[in-house]
Amino acid sequence: MVTRGDGTPLVFAIGMRTRFRGIEVREGVLLRGRAGWGEFSPFWDYDAAECVPWLRAAREAADEGWPAAVRTSVPVNCTIPAVGPEAAQAVVAASAGCRTAKIKVAEPGQTEADDLARVEAVRDALGPGGRIRVDANGLWDVDTAVRMTRLLDKAAGGLEYVEQPCRTVEELAVVRAHIEVPVAADESIRRAADPYRVVELDAADVAVLKVQPLGGVRACLEIAARIGLPVVVSSALETSVGISAGLALAAALPELPYACGLATGALLTGDVVDAPFTVVDGALPVARPELAEVPAAAPETMARWTERLAAVEALA
Ligand SMILES: [Mg+2]
Repeated sequence: MVTRGDGTPLVFAIGMRTRFRGIEVREGVLLRGRAGWGEFSPFWDYDAAECVPWLRAAREAADEGWPAAVRTSVPVNCTIPAVGPEAAQAVVAASAGCRTAKIKVAEPGQTEADDLARVEAVRDALGPGGRIRVDANGLWDVDTAVRMTRLLDKAAGGLEYVEQPCRTVEELAVVRAHIEVPVAADESIRRAADPYRVVELDAADVAVLKVQPLGGVRACLEIAARIGLPVVVSSALETSVGISAGLALAAALPELPYACGLATGALLTGDVVDAPFTVVDGALPVARPELAEVPAAAPETMARWTERLAAVEALA
């Protein structure tokens, strides 16, 4: 493991601005190789075996670098957590020209009216020319997914797509057969034993690819080529080090018809680089930022990550 000058591993722990995906602090380890820095930051609900592709992605970033880019900037969406209408509009207002908004829906503990109000508010803030997509993170059953997608499509004045409306690929296929709105597969690709099943079952129109869980930029380019669907590159709520890998993937894809979910830096209260990625005119530049002085994580956080990294390295 690469360490700071004083011999401690580069473990980071950064607070989230809003609770997202059930977490309040984002943690991980930064690895240094001859090509630069790589981020290893699997969520804690991933076991060691599931973390192997995350480590492969970090090693690719650190040791090999990435394939040639075919574009220098990547259009991005703003991300709206399961907040109230005013807070949702504030995210759009602060999004530096993003013309696409991704809205979290189906949050446990909230109502369908909350989702509809949030989507309507975002349409008002974005104006008629903006694009709206919703992400249910697999939390609807088939009937709810069909009904809610129709209602949200109406509330939005047209949805770009609905992301992971239900948990399984089979359910996505049924939902897709019943709605006009395109279906994007996210968890069904990155946590599936077989990412190509969504194509076999006609379950999706769009593939959401994330570099760390899918094992790196090259692994994602291979999936993109084989899966034959338009790709949206998204982050795994990473620091700018992890985001730069997502940007490298988005920059290397032959076609990029949708805005990418890489402008998630603002969901964190800090970063590990001197100049964090900043959205300008709704896009991010394709670049590798320089690492800043990363504040040392608490000893118990360091210990947990050192142990975790060793366990995953033993499997990789
Ligand atoms: Mg998603």
